[in-house]
Amino acid sequence: MGYNPDSAIETKCVQAGWQPKNGEPRVLPIYESTTYKYDTSAEMAKLFDLEPGYMYTRLANPTNDAVANKIACLEGGVGAVLTSSGQAANFFALINILGAGDHIVSSATIYGGTFNLLNVTMRKIGVDVTFVDPRASEEEINAAFRDNTKAMFGETIANPSLDVLDIEKFAKIAHSHGVPLIVDNTFPTPINCRPFEFGADIVTHSTTKYMEGHASTIGGCVVDSGNFDWYQNDKFPGLTTPDESYHGVTYAKDFGKNGYIVKIVAQLLRDYGPTPSPFNSFLLNIGLESLAVRVERHCENAQKVAEYLEKNDKIAWVNYPGLKSSKDYELAKKYLPHGTCGVISFGVKGGREKAEQFMNSLKLAAIVTHVADARTCVLHPASSTHRQLSDEELTECGVTPDLVRLSVGIENVNDIIADIENALKAI
Ligand SMILES: *Cc1c(COP(=O)(O)O)cnc(C)c1O
Repeated sequence: MGYNPDSAIETKCVQAGWQPKNGEPRVLPIYESTTYKYDTSAEMAKLFDLEPGYMYTRLANPTNDAVANKIACLEGGVGAVLTSSGQAANFFALINILGAGDHIVSSATIYGGTFNLLNVTMRKIGVDVTFVDPRASEEEINAAFRDNTKAMFGETIANPSLDVLDIEKFAKIAHSHGVPLIVDNTFPTPINCRPFEFGADIVTHSTTKYMEGHASTIGGCVVDSGNFDWYQNDKFPGLTTPDESYHGVTYAKDFGKNGYIVKIVAQLLRDYGPTPSPFNSFLLNIGLESLAVRVERHCENAQKVAEYLEKNDKIAWVNYPGLKSSKDYELAKKYLPHGTCGVISFGVKGGREKAEQFMNSLKLAAIVTHVADARTCVLHPASSTHRQLSDEELTECGVTPDLVRLSVGIENVNDIIADIENALKAI
């Protein structure tokens, strides 16, 4: 092993996951194979009893597994599974433990895609959701829970409102109702925050963002802390009673702490099928190797850009949890003491029109529907990612019409600031 459990996270980024045996390739190979060969039918049959091994890449693949194991190691979880997108990861994290007739309590300030997933698509399949203001009191949030509530959801740093989640408060509330807290940790990455250390039970990622880091590959991941006791009540029959579609396996009993992840693999990947390509997982792994270095630079640059914007008189407001003026500065100090993320949101004086003019005048920062990669980029959420939402829903998500989302890259910060300065001069 190139690392041990006490190794620092920078070491795990490089060394965890693929552990070659004597004579095997040093670098994680791309097992671009749909299927796996066995000498006898009897050996193959064992796999259908969910014994360890590979049968078909829709369920499991050695390249994908090595990368999932690296992410589990970075988050401090017992297991993880990769999905073909962050959307699939959040859907799986939830649908793995609930179904029609059930209910979710979610922070209202979450990614637009996840908001739609919960607010529209999950409702269509009979899953109800109540959105809560994450800043509301415990009493108010408690009031959102029902007998059929099965999970609580939030984002460590919300995209794009950048609200910092009070993870301990949410975990305490979720646990008092006997349900797990699921936290989307995409923006901080485990370099800056490991939600399990504050009581979260399940962590999800859009690996598309900082983890892959180069805007080349869509992907997602679900990580289990192994800490949630699925037997504490009768809310989770999918884990605590036999699965007839797998000849009676009981995931939380037969697989112990791995039951939640095994169920995603054996049941959800099998039936829904959003498995990542091994080639994409190979690229994700290369991204993960430099994650710690990149995240540090993203945060350092973003802090400087945020401080620059705050002093500029053409800027109406700046929201960055690393700024003392941020409403979440104290929460960020507690949960993200080494840095928050590279994303800043701000308003240009003159509203929507000036914001668009400013964006069109940028040269280095490109207008793209992306965030959190090596290149500085910029987006106007109200007219793009959050376009489907009404003004009321926009405000609920913490997205104002004048909000510009700037994703600060790892270029030299002086060049990034010069680009912004020139664009501001042009308006
Ligand atoms: C991008 C994003 C997602 C969706 O991930 P995809 O990989 O685009 O499917 C989910 N949550 C957050 C916080 C995101 O930023």
